Amino acid sequence: MIDYHLHTPLCRHALGSPEEYLAAARQKGLREIGFADHYPLGLLGREPEAAVSMKPGELPGYIREIRALGAGEKEIAVKLGAEVDYLPGTEELLAELLAGDPFDFVIGSLHFMGDWDFTHPYHAHRYEEQPLEQIYSRYFELLWQACASGLFDIIGHIDGIKKFGHRLPDEAMEPYWRETARVLRANGLCFELNSSGKDAPAAEFYPGRRLLELCYREGVPVTLGSDAHGPEQVGRYFDEALALLREVGYRELAVFSQRRRSFIAMEESGR
Ligand SMILES: [Zn+2]
Ligand SMILES: [Zn+2]
Repeated sequence: MIDYHLHTPLCRHALGSPEEYLAAARQKGLREIGFADHYPLGLLGREPEAAVSMKPGELPGYIREIRALGAGEKEIAVKLGAEVDYLPGTEELLAELLAGDPFDFVIGSLHFMGDWDFTHPYHAHRYEEQPLEQIYSRYFELLWQACASGLFDIIGHIDGIKKFGHRLPDEAMEPYWRETARVLRANGLCFELNSSGKDAPAAEFYPGRRLLELCYREGVPVTLGSDAHGPEQVGRYFDEALALLREVGYRELAVFSQRRRSFIAMEESGR
């Protein structure tokens, strides 16, 4: 099994050293892990009041630390990644920055719509301040824009807008799901089954089953991540996640080295 979405305390809302995440992965019998801490928003000209990413000056140290951890580890492959915010208007800057970074993979995620951090519990009240249809429509437009940017390898917590349990009926969601699967496919992207949604008010993986089915049908590759912000969250709900992926039809998971994608069989990815 693999876990391709691990954070570190550098983002200021995660606990535990990278060594402790690695130890947790060993205990769970994982064969490959990927650190994907929050890329410095400061490099993109954004410094939200509550710090939610590493600082620009911390990026080189993060890279060194994860590489050193991997170099000292014989059994578990340790990949170096980042979770990068998609902020419209920063595409060129970000492309330049990422071209100079030695990442194995880059997860593109949405946490912000304008100045609203819609994934942050402190700002969850803003879901009540405009029609939900409007919020969803804005979210998916932004998501498809992120997919088309060519900046990312993996799209993170793809239906993260449901995090706090604000949902539209399935009939209203179907066109969004269909278009999302199509856009992923059209842009040669991978997405993650992110198990952290189970611990959010949404109480469901990102994405939910219907979008997973449509992605499988479109031939969109999937990878697996816990979005761990503490060592005890490494590999959370993975038995259930793998069972769901198998039910939907998936038999392999995407892995990355130097931003090139390959696949491992899900059978082999178990213990
Ligand atoms: Zn985080
Ligand atoms: Zn995220």
